[in-house]
Amino acid sequence: MLDVSEVVGQPGAAKEVPLTVGLDPGDLGEDVLRVLGPLTGTAQVVGTEEGALVQFRLEGEVELACGRCLQPYRFPVDLAFAEEFRTGPVAVGSAELEADDDGSTFVMVADGLIPVAEVVRQYLLLALPMKPLCRPDCAGLCPGCGVNLNEEPCRCEPEAGDPRLAVLRKLLDNPEAGG
Ligand SMILES: [Zn+2]
Ligand SMILES: [Zn+2]
Repeated sequence: MLDVSEVVGQPGAAKEVPLTVGLDPGDLGEDVLRVLGPLTGTAQVVGTEEGALVQFRLEGEVELACGRCLQPYRFPVDLAFAEEFRTGPVAVGSAELEADDDGSTFVMVADGLIPVAEVVRQYLLLALPMKPLCRPDCAGLCPGCGVNLNEEPCRCEPEAGDPRLAVLRKLLDNPEAGG
C-alpha cells in the first residue's frame, strides 16, 4: 500500500516514495512464467483538490513463454505512467476506475491508501506483448516432428509422411521404371 493521505486535498504538496512491488506470476496471465524479482522504482506524489496525482516509474524483468517455440525468455519491464487517485467509499485494498462529468477518469481508493500492486499489475498487463516472441525471427517448432527449428533442422521424413510423395519420388529416381 502506498499512503498518500498526507498530501490528499493539498494541491502542490509533494513527496517522492521509493517503491518495491512484488507480483505473483499467477495474476499476470499464462504468457508470464516467472517474475524475476520485484519491480523497483519510485512514485512521485502530488496532492490535488480531491486526492493525489501519482507518477509511477518502475523497472524489472519477467520471463515469458515464446508464442512460437514455447521457450522461456527474459522480457524487460519499464513502466512509466501517471494516475489520478481520489479517496472515497471503497474497500481498502481495492481500486475502482471512475469517470468525471467531463469524461476524465480517476481511480477511487480508500483512505488515501493506494493498492500499488494491483495498479501496477494492470499497467504491466498492458505493457506485455500481444504475441510474445523470443526474437523477431523465431522459427518456432516444426508442426511435423516438433523440433525447435531455432536449434536443429527438421527431422520430418517426407517418404514416411505421405505415400503419394513416396511414389512420386520413386518415379523421379528411376525415370525408366515409371513408363
Ligand atoms: Zn521462440
Ligand atoms: Zn519436422
